[in-house]
Amino acid sequence: MPQNVDRSATVNIPCPQCGEKFEQTVAELEMGPRLRCPACGVAIRVDARKIMQRIKEAAAKAGEAKRWGGG
Ligand SMILES: [Zn+2]
Repeated sequence: MPQNVDRSATVNIPCPQCGEKFEQTVAELEMGPRLRCPACGVAIRVDARKIMQRIKEAAAKAGEAKRWGGG
């Protein structure tokens, strides 16, 4: 598990049932990858590792000067 991911960052999670997107923080995803859609109430399971990957990619696209896992 990468240590240098900002745990307060938020991720948009699309609901597979109704398509509603909602935000979760990385910290919440790490603690419990089981979510519940606020719109339709369906239980959603997400892969925290995939989310981490997306966060890192998004950070890279955003032009972050920081380097991930460089050391
Ligand atoms: Zn939903």
